[in-house]
Amino acid sequence: MSNLQPVRGTHDLLADDCRLHRHVETVARDTSELYGFDEVATPIFEFTDVFARTLGGTSDIVAKEMYTFEAKGGESITLRPEGTAGIARAFISNGLAQHVPLKLFYHGPMFRHERPQKGRQRQFHQVGVESIGSGSPQADVEVIALGYKILNQLGLTKEVKLEINSLGDSESRANYRNVLLEYFTKHESSLSADSKARLQRNPLRILDSKDEQDRRIVSDAPALSDYLNSDSRVFIESVERGLNDLKLPFEKNPNLVRGLDYYCHTAFEFTTISLGAQGTVLAGGRYDGLIEQMGGPSTPGVGWAAGVERLAMLTTNTQNMIRPFAVVPVSNDLKDIAMQVVQTLRDAAIPSDLAFSGNIKRRLKRADKLNARAAVILGEEELKDGNVVLRDLDSGDQTTIALANVAEAIKDNY
Ligand code: ATP
Ligand code: MG
Repeated sequence: MSNLQPVRGTHDLLADDCRLHRHVETVARDTSELYGFDEVATPIFEFTDVFARTLGGTSDIVAKEMYTFEAKGGESITLRPEGTAGIARAFISNGLAQHVPLKLFYHGPMFRHERPQKGRQRQFHQVGVESIGSGSPQADVEVIALGYKILNQLGLTKEVKLEINSLGDSESRANYRNVLLEYFTKHESSLSADSKARLQRNPLRILDSKDEQDRRIVSDAPALSDYLNSDSRVFIESVERGLNDLKLPFEKNPNLVRGLDYYCHTAFEFTTISLGAQGTVLAGGRYDGLIEQMGGPSTPGVGWAAGVERLAMLTTNTQNMIRPFAVVPVSNDLKDIAMQVVQTLRDAAIPSDLAFSGNIKRRLKRADKLNARAAVILGEEELKDGNVVLRDLDSGDQTTIALANVAEAIKDNY
């Protein structure tokens, strides 16, 4: 084999990465449960149409980022680039319409063929929620409050800010589309190639462009908020009032449009300045037309997804990482009894580890590497009296305890 590198944009998650990812995922899952969301899991690949027909042909994802291949049976299959379309598909396939309102949590890998950089991979992970079946602005407030709570549990609230915007209903967007088309057509010659291509098909997407020159043109563009009809205005005002009532701070950002076609009304993003250009950590919005557009019954929905890698990079709150106890025999003759002792600890649900070889020095070094809380040291002399030594590896303090009570002693002291 000539190339043992992982594929560009993919990463092996080693022990510390997995621990941190699991921490982010656990906090997201537990907090979602607190808000009444149930976990679901859909396949990581779907028929290509599930994404191609819903996310929008001018979206970055469909236009250039999908991992699409022909399966042996000749079907076109795509590795999921995001979670919502698959959940909407599952909602229809499983006839879940009779169970609305549904509040769902999911997590797992997503795949996008984009340029890898810090905070941007080709295989990455998301946690996300969908609140399906309620068209009430309170559902928007609830998912945003949940996002805040998760970021707060991860210790991140101070690092992030919430921006929101309204994309309005389809009538408002159609009005605005015409105004925008006229404005961008005047500036067509200065637009980037990507934006020129989007001009006729979806001028709204130009608002989302990352191109410098486009951004200058966008900054003087007419604002969608001036073209919202009264229903749309009432809706976003209710969301804003709901956020204020819960004391959840937000800023309005008229250029926040989100990359996918299926969004309407509320769009929101939690961003941080700590991750450079990849500053969006959690993002979502309302997608009332999506399920109907896929062929299901007309069903409103609102949700968000957050990047686990980006959250993990920001998370310093690792207090609840497990620290094991190390069993350390002073000589190899004691290895069998050491195995029994470590089993006793595990039977008592105490996380513990035993190195299979090495002198006491090497074994203590390993304990240190594991960030072990304390070592149970087994010596010939002490064992004759039925005792072992418990050494606190932070303070260095040692106490002699009865071997028969080792699990209780650990539970009492740690
Ligand atoms: P960006 O503007 O950064 O490309 P996006 O609008 O494409 O983000 P969404 O589709 O809203 O992102 O996905 C939600 C979240 O998933 C993002 O806010 C980010 O945290 C994460 N995410 C998206 N793409 C990637 C990626 N390629 N690598 C790592 N995380 C990602
Ligand atoms: Mg993207």
